Amino acid sequence: MAENEVVSLLGKLIRTRSYSGEEKAAVRELRLFFENAGFDEIATDRTGNLIGILRGNRKGPTILFDAHIDTVPVQDVNSWRHDPFGAEIEDGRMYGRGTSDMKGALAAMACAAARFKKTYGGDFAGRICIAAVVHEECFEGVAAREISRTFRPDLVVIGEASELNLKRGQRGRMEIRVETEGIPAHSSNPEKGLNAVYSMCKVIEALRALPAPENAFLGKGIMELTDIRSDPYPGASVVPEKCTVTYDRRLLTGETAGSVLAPIEKVLRELGEKDPSVRARAYVAEGRETCYTGAEIAGRRFFPAWEYPEEAPFVKKAYEALCESPLLNPVFSHYSFCTNGSHYAGEEQIPTIGFGPSEESLAHTVDESVAIADLVAAEDGYFRLMRAFTS
Ligand SMILES: [Zn+2]
Repeated sequence: MAENEVVSLLGKLIRTRSYSGEEKAAVRELRLFFENAGFDEIATDRTGNLIGILRGNRKGPTILFDAHIDTVPVQDVNSWRHDPFGAEIEDGRMYGRGTSDMKGALAAMACAAARFKKTYGGDFAGRICIAAVVHEECFEGVAAREISRTFRPDLVVIGEASELNLKRGQRGRMEIRVETEGIPAHSSNPEKGLNAVYSMCKVIEALRALPAPENAFLGKGIMELTDIRSDPYPGASVVPEKCTVTYDRRLLTGETAGSVLAPIEKVLRELGEKDPSVRARAYVAEGRETCYTGAEIAGRRFFPAWEYPEEAPFVKKAYEALCESPLLNPVFSHYSFCTNGSHYAGEEQIPTIGFGPSEESLAHTVDESVAIADLVAAEDGYFRLMRAFTS
């Protein structure tokens, strides 16, 4: 029963492409499911998030199940063995963009809520919200801000792939821009100018030597250069007057934008003192995205880390609920990638856990897929979490 429902809903969501900012049709598909399943209320907001709500007949907590409905684009269809929008099933796996990251979890959550409604009607305490969140892929936790403002959840379950284990923390992420300033000149007389790219080479070397901080649970706060650009670009016989690089810095708990920038700024300052031709500055990158509704979301690309102890009562309770499922055998771990949890737990300090089908390493891959057995087990896990926190 559960298998047919989850596979059918996931198939519809996979066949409906939903790149970030283009989620409208997939949202409509999910709304139909919520309507047919008799959800008590279906809400949306300016960013286009869709929230299906079940209301209990007694006062109680609001439990929010969070899954983003956007996916990263397919770069080269020809490199896929399966149609990325075909929802083909082979050897017990469904293939397609978003199967693993993370429409599979979204379908499992929605089906678990539908089964919960069928089983208990309104006989429970509090509220269960299934949130399909837009624009997560390059702007984690920003559209999610609208949801926590409206629904004030007491507990959030992030459905990102956890291999059906229980995540109690996550590294955060920050994008850092470093700029060097040069002096433009004709490239036939480069000595008249100052090449910003040569300065940047020195900066990059110096920053590579910075040690990464480490946390026993979350691992290393690694920093990786992800792009570089000279200005003007393309440069036609001109010594570039500016060079900009972006770093992706993974964050550990307790780190702030200021604490991450401080050692970088120190390196730039010392470099400039030794070699006055190096004029560089560092800052947090800003983002701006347009939602399918036309609304704009903007902010600094700073998404904090979070971590809760195994002994935290809500973590224990979730663990025990999952252990009761014959389909699950969860262990504790953390997410290496960034999720909407950065907002709920990192910014708002709302108790948050992660539990979802599939593996982190399958996100954004060619021939992305999810095991159907994982979907069925996830559906059962979500159902048990709903029961545990609202009885
Ligand atoms: Zn994801």
